[in-house]
Amino acid sequence: MSARVALSIIVPVFNEQESISLFLERARPAVRDALALIGPDATAEYLFVDDGSSDRTRDILAILARMNGDVRYAALSRNFGKEAALAAGIDRALGDAVIPIDVDLQDPPEVIVSMVRHWLAGAQVVNARRIDRSTDSRFKRWSAQGFYRILNRLADYPIPENVGDFRLLDRQAVDAVKQLSEQARFNKGLFSWVGFRVATIDYEREARGAGTTKWRLRKLWGLALDGVTSSTTMPLRIWSYLGGLIAIMAFAYAVALIVKTIVTGADTPGYASIMVAVLMLGGLNLMSLGIIGEYLGRVAQEVRKRPLYVVAEEAGGVAPATSAAPVQSGDEEWIAQPIRA
Ligand code: UDP
Ligand code: MG
Repeated sequence: MSARVALSIIVPVFNEQESISLFLERARPAVRDALALIGPDATAEYLFVDDGSSDRTRDILAILARMNGDVRYAALSRNFGKEAALAAGIDRALGDAVIPIDVDLQDPPEVIVSMVRHWLAGAQVVNARRIDRSTDSRFKRWSAQGFYRILNRLADYPIPENVGDFRLLDRQAVDAVKQLSEQARFNKGLFSWVGFRVATIDYEREARGAGTTKWRLRKLWGLALDGVTSSTTMPLRIWSYLGGLIAIMAFAYAVALIVKTIVTGADTPGYASIMVAVLMLGGLNLMSLGIIGEYLGRVAQEVRKRPLYVVAEEAGGVAPATSAAPVQSGDEEWIAQPIRA
């Protein structure tokens, strides 16, 4: 039997052929330092999840897994999105502590050492907070800040601002997250929801090591909607209050109209006031329907109970098979150099 796996490093990758070897090169020393804190026979596993890449990402992972006993990967059958890819990684992790991390080195692997220190000191979840996001675009920073402000005003439980998926979760927290079966994954919300003893450390967000960002505005907007709908019920409830308020106002207005008609007689009602009332109520109705639709769509998705992701292929592991296929010469060289598309 192989030694107990202390740390599972979970890395979702989507078209990241340039970044993978750079990542391993820099993560290895940091993870080694972290393992030294834990104990002499502590080991780590690097678990990559290929989120349906169309470049050579999967080939690179296959070779890395063959060459390194501590690297394994699961390849999803198509692009399911980072949240689903992370779920696939978390489901497969064997470690006593699990650390999701981006492959692009924007989450500096050196932070893992202080995460582990806090974990050994008793924290069950160690959040990493970005204190400097100057390497992210101005729009991204501005939209993220606005999003967290709104979300935290609405959310039923607080979601820490500026904490991404990069964090340490101990086994108990991981098992709790695994029990959450919802389809609309917003991992940052789920990780916060499970609770436990939380510690927070600060770090500076770095620039992307290689490659380009995989997020498009539409994807981010979808994630933001998932985030709000999966951690709040407030947007659904405000309509009962707003509706109540409008009903009271309408009733008061009706009473005033009746009194006015009795006192001064009937006159031709104004076109403008009717239009205003009709348009405002119509607009409010559509808006409330839209919000109900956002929630309802997700309810429909939950009811279908589809799996979060489909795995096409898995390989590698802490205990590599004795009959591992020999590495063809030239492979190592191929990996050592970042590949230009
Ligand atoms: N990623 C993924 N699936 C996707 C989009 C992104 O697995 O559909 C991975 C990506 O390979 C990277 C991490 O998620 O490891 C963060 O992505 P990226 O750096 O593009 O996001 P950003 O840092 O710009 O928010
Ligand atoms: Mg990035």
